[in-house]
Amino acid sequence: MKGHACIDPLHHVHDASGFVAAVERASLERGLRLTPIRARVLGLIAEAGRPLKAYDLLDQVRDGEGAGAAAPPTVYRALDFLLANGFIHKLESVNAFVACHHPSTAQHSVPFLICDRCHSAVELEDAQVVAALDERARALGFVPQAQTLEVHGLCARCSG
Ligand SMILES: [Zn+2]
Ligand SMILES: [Zn+2]
Repeated sequence: MKGHACIDPLHHVHDASGFVAAVERASLERGLRLTPIRARVLGLIAEAGRPLKAYDLLDQVRDGEGAGAAAPPTVYRALDFLLANGFIHKLESVNAFVACHHPSTAQHSVPFLICDRCHSAVELEDAQVVAALDERARALGFVPQAQTLEVHGLCARCSG
């Protein structure tokens, strides 16, 4: 199986409303409920097109009109749901969230390539990297439960 690295960070989630609709369908199939606040948080992350910091997200939700407005704990609960079900990823090193472009699969570990100049983040779809780490850890008797693989540097556009 060959992985692919997409060099355009906007390639996968370019249509935020289409992405939310896809997640809605995936949720139904998996017996999950994408409530209005969960859908709104997901939509904001998808629209951002790049990693969205938690405080920016809170600002945007607070500035929402009427039913769109929500308190921080509600937003964090929505984030927990989206993370637990693999619809978004959290980038620990920059404390930001990105939409996952294959929302029909469950939560998965993926290496991320993060550009320190334009702040784009790309999922490196390479199951071998994740599997190799898992294997080496288990060989040492270590039982991995979560992998955070974030590579910082300059993307093709910024380094070119
Ligand atoms: Zn993903
Ligand atoms: Zn860049």
